[in-house]
Amino acid sequence: MKAAVYHGDHSVTLDDVPDAVIARPTDAIVDIEYAGVCGSDLWTYRGQGADAPSRIGHEFVGTVREVGSQVSSVKAGDWVVVPFRYSDGECDYCRRGLETSCINGGFWGRESIDAGQGEAACVPQADGTLVKALPDGGRPDESLIPSLLTLTDVFTTGYHAAVCAHVKAGDTVTVVGDGAVGLCAIMAAKLLGAGRVINAGSSHEDRHRLARLFGADEVIEARGQEAVEMVGTLTSGSMSDVVLECVGSAQSFTTAIDMCAAGASLSYVGLPHGVEIDVKTLFYKNITITGGMSPAHHYIGSLLPAVLDGQIDPGMVYTQEYGLEDIARAYADMDQRRTIKPMIKVR
Ligand SMILES: [Zn+2]
Repeated sequence: MKAAVYHGDHSVTLDDVPDAVIARPTDAIVDIEYAGVCGSDLWTYRGQGADAPSRIGHEFVGTVREVGSQVSSVKAGDWVVVPFRYSDGECDYCRRGLETSCINGGFWGRESIDAGQGEAACVPQADGTLVKALPDGGRPDESLIPSLLTLTDVFTTGYHAAVCAHVKAGDTVTVVGDGAVGLCAIMAAKLLGAGRVINAGSSHEDRHRLARLFGADEVIEARGQEAVEMVGTLTSGSMSDVVLECVGSAQSFTTAIDMCAAGASLSYVGLPHGVEIDVKTLFYKNITITGGMSPAHHYIGSLLPAVLDGQIDPGMVYTQEYGLEDIARAYADMDQRRTIKPMIKVR
């Protein structure tokens, strides 16, 4: 079968790889229909993630082709959403809703595990991992598929930021970052009742427009201290009740801390790179730091109704569609910021 393979700095190609096969009785094979390219794939693409060569991609949806003898929650033909880590659904962490720490879980594309940008994947721990989009396993309406694809990672990550920060009705929430996760965090904050959402660091006109579509009330182009001062002006000096940090760089983290009101929560979901925190600043302002890697599986079930009934449409985050054969161009376009987030149509 064909699948995307990372070969080193700025090189992802579509290669022939071994077919996905059932290896354990708890496995299922999923024929992948759509896949996303994630900001964390881009870190890998830029030479800061995985060893090469390695399979790549962890946002995918599709149809179950075959299940192992011990799989009971899905059957061949079911249309499923696949979270960005697999998990058993049974250990203490899974029961607590922290599937990202599952003792039998793992990331796609590591060692002998298939990844998400390809024609098919063998899914370990299928009962604990796969989520049917519809209760009967049926295929959802085509128009809903991009939004369902966001539940695998990008929207559930933005949502995790807002949930961890306990965003509540009336809060002023500032979202730092203009990438796909930031856009989803804006929508998630509104979903939880935020009164006012400010998006900081939105670099271009097309991103301003998207930020407003996702629910931002104010969009700030500036970054760093200039952005901090603008949040001060917009809030008459009181700063932000909640700050959602969706970049992961040292500068964006510092900016996010400075945007916090006293007693604020700062929630981070951008994969941190070179971030050091001045704990003393947190101390004097009673700032709570929260967030981390989103347990996507934990949120998919509760967010499905909002997607299926059209209450939210996070699928807008996929700004361009590519065929699987165009995977190299999809990466290059995202890397060069020609598109915010590619969606790969596999079949
Ligand atoms: Zn588990």
